[in-house]
Amino acid sequence: MGWIPEDRAPRAYRDTATATRKGLIIIYTGEGKGKTTAALGLAFRALGYKWRVAIVQFIKGKWKTGEDKMCEQLTGRLDCFRMGEGFTWITKNYDRDVATARKAWVKCREVLKDERYRVVIFDELNYVLKYNFLSVDEVLDALKHKPPQTHVVLTGRDAPQPLMDAADLVTEMREIKHPFRAGLKAQPGIDY
Ligand code: ATP
Ligand code: MG
Repeated sequence: MGWIPEDRAPRAYRDTATATRKGLIIIYTGEGKGKTTAALGLAFRALGYKWRVAIVQFIKGKWKTGEDKMCEQLTGRLDCFRMGEGFTWITKNYDRDVATARKAWVKCREVLKDERYRVVIFDELNYVLKYNFLSVDEVLDALKHKPPQTHVVLTGRDAPQPLMDAADLVTEMREIKHPFRAGLKAQPGIDY
């Protein structure tokens, strides 16, 4: 390269960024892997500042994930609420799924109001919105009234457009390659 690119290190933005610091609404969506992982990465970063973090999981698998195990060790700093009992990716009982989603949403509102939490993660919220287990308007309303300093992270495929419009940061994970396609099974420590 015959030229030196302009320095775009984050420090270059510091003055303007701190002028309007506020709790962000962050969405990780898309088909590729990395949505929950990215949210957990933010939790890790926040914990470094001794901030308290809450994760509400809308979908709960049969087995404990690595993050569930870690949450147990960090209770009081990283609080994990696994609300998706009985939820599967393939719904068989609509009424029960709605009830489960609503229960998880009650927990979301509770942690959102609790100003001890500087970062709250609603994992797979987009999933329940997609299937209308919960209305987007309700979520938008809660986000509108959140404590100003609280960062909210929402994950899941197919984030609804109105939610992305309301967000400050939206990243779409795009699959380029996934070991699943080569027939490899989900791996502990990587996928769960
Ligand atoms: P992760 O939790 O690994 O960050 P994710 O939150 O982006 O993944 P989800 O839609 O929540 O993805 O899927 C959960 C599980 O499905 C994970 O085990 C993940 O590895 C796997 N997965 C994600 N993307 C793909 C894909 N494109 N093909 C197959 N499996 C996938
Ligand atoms: Mg996920």
